[in-house]
Amino acid sequence: MENETTKVVIVGGGFAGLNCAEELAHHKSLRIVVLDRNNYQQFQPLLYQVATGTLSPDNAAFNLRAVLAHHANVDVVMTEIQSVDLAKRTAYSVSGEEFRGDVLVLAAGAEPNFFDIPGVHEYALPLYSLADAERLRSRLLEALEAADREPTGQQEELRFVVIGGGATGVEIAGAIADTLQRMPDYAFKHINLRRASVTLIDMAKTVLTPFSKRSQEYVTAVLKERGVELRLGVSVREVERDGVFLLDGTRIPAHLVIWAGGLKASRLSASLGIKTGRGGRVDVQADLSVSGFPGVYALGDFANVRTSTGEALPQLASVAQQAGRYCARNIIAAVSGLPEQPFEYRDKGIMAMVGRNAAVAEVGSHRHGVTGMLAFAAWLGVHALLLTTVRAKVQTFFEWAWEYFGDVHVDPILDRPDVDWSNQTRAAQSE
Ligand SMILES: Cc1cc2nc3c(=O)[nH]c(=O)nc-3n(C[C@H](O)[C@H](O)[C@H](O)COP(=O)(O)OP(=O)(O)OC[C@H]3O[C@@H](n4cnc5c(N)ncnc54)[C@H](O)[C@@H]3O)c2cc1C
Repeated sequence: MENETTKVVIVGGGFAGLNCAEELAHHKSLRIVVLDRNNYQQFQPLLYQVATGTLSPDNAAFNLRAVLAHHANVDVVMTEIQSVDLAKRTAYSVSGEEFRGDVLVLAAGAEPNFFDIPGVHEYALPLYSLADAERLRSRLLEALEAADREPTGQQEELRFVVIGGGATGVEIAGAIADTLQRMPDYAFKHINLRRASVTLIDMAKTVLTPFSKRSQEYVTAVLKERGVELRLGVSVREVERDGVFLLDGTRIPAHLVIWAGGLKASRLSASLGIKTGRGGRVDVQADLSVSGFPGVYALGDFANVRTSTGEALPQLASVAQQAGRYCARNIIAAVSGLPEQPFEYRDKGIMAMVGRNAAVAEVGSHRHGVTGMLAFAAWLGVHALLLTTVRAKVQTFFEWAWEYFGDVHVDPILDRPDVDWSNQTRAAQSE
């Protein structure tokens, strides 16, 4: 029988934590507390569309209390956790609160990894959170507005640089190229946006390394066709306020630099007092528990999860979602005195969007490859279904249809003119 007083504390209300909470919530004898620094779950796969104005921020974020509204046994606390005592199964907030659980689930996700490259932290904008996407959108529009103010004939060519050729980098580079090409003429009358450049840099010799050669070739061709210049096989040495230095000695001038070069576990992992694995993530056992700390689990982007054959699972929403549900079932088994089961990931494949009518999908564990319009439609369908609420699924689908079939573009509204978006401010805030 479940213990009536079992309290589960979940740090992080993202894909992993939220799915875990929803599954646990069906067991009325459990009390669940979800702790998150935001009062919403952010939907990272759509952030690049928020950053380029295809979707509004509320299409990519869901109020946690509203999502969990039907579960009286779940409480949401908006708080920043600064440390965790694994032995005591207790999370401590920056404002001094303590959250002790009979069970503790760590699902604090990831954050950008700047690899200590000089200038990246100060001058490049990452794309991991909703705040990042809104900041990026404002900076993109500011660059366009500033160019539009310049006297005719004296305008510099607008240059955007994206660092990182994984799915995030490809998606944002493709989306900026599409936005520039498809911006209606009335939007910025004094600049020729078709002359603006987008450069995508990666130290690997190809984009999208986890994908097949065929997918990589397709994506490379589409990006080039849309005017994205690829600088592959070369590392970034330094980012400056107005440009990027590469290790081969070249310098690329830039009005805006976007960092999509890598992620590491949320900095909370450094407070755990244990040796962490790749990317600062917590190495977990097959049942997602943390070795040596009974009742403690780690999931999603915060954890290194291995398959039964020893392969590390990728940092994907589908892995986090499935792990969240799995972990919940193991917690329920444990409090009921039943054996816990090893986590088995059902691999449905990988996909990446390149831009309008262009995407790649490799379906299932056998990676059956699809490109072009079919993959584009599949990407939209799969991501609409992944959205957390029914309202969001319907609303987002309408936004896409409106944009696609009506060829109606979101009016570029720079709605944060009073905010200092400089990276220096951001850097100071994140210290
Ligand atoms: C731009 C981008 C695009 C992506 N696109 C895709 C895609 O198309 N398909 C796909 O499958 N995957 C995609 N991913 C990966 C996917 O988003 C992640 O794998 C997934 O979000 C991981 O879920 P999670 O619950 O572990 O972490 P998250 O969803 O990041 O949730 C972690 C939560 O913890 C909270 N948190 C962190 N630290 C603290 C703290 N100290 N105190 C309080 N709260 C804290 C955060 O606010 C957040 O809500 C993308 C990722 C990015 C960045």
